[in-house]
Amino acid sequence: MDNCLFCRIAAGEIPSTKVYEDEQVLAFRDIAPQAPTHVLVIPKKHVSGWYAAKDEDDALLAHLMRTAAAVAKMEGVVESGFRVVSNCGPDAQQTVPHLHLHVLGGKEMGGKMG
Ligand code: AMP
Repeated sequence: MDNCLFCRIAAGEIPSTKVYEDEQVLAFRDIAPQAPTHVLVIPKKHVSGWYAAKDEDDALLAHLMRTAAAVAKMEGVVESGFRVVSNCGPDAQQTVPHLHLHVLGGKEMGGKMG
């Protein structure tokens, strides 16, 4: 999508600090990190959110999740622990309408998630 921020990052039109990339997904550092490790994992294909995903996206979504786990490993936060968060819609404070996972780690987080 032409005017989608994360599509433009995936296309290399907007710079990002890349952590991992393959044909299907891109992982890059969040511009406003909320933890020592704060990496976003996105599908390169534009999917606006979980409800927009189709049956044909199942393998892509599984790969997205497995990439989040691989990023946690690369960042060295598997033993200490990490969170994978995906905000969906206004109440969850989703600000970029392109499906993404936040991988957060490197500090002890609060017990509340909402
Ligand atoms: P969300 O609020 O869940 O939709 O997450 C969007 C995330 O994108 C926020 O954590 C922002 O800090 C992050 N973000 C916005 N613009 C950029 C950018 N140009 N590069 C990296 N992260 C960004």
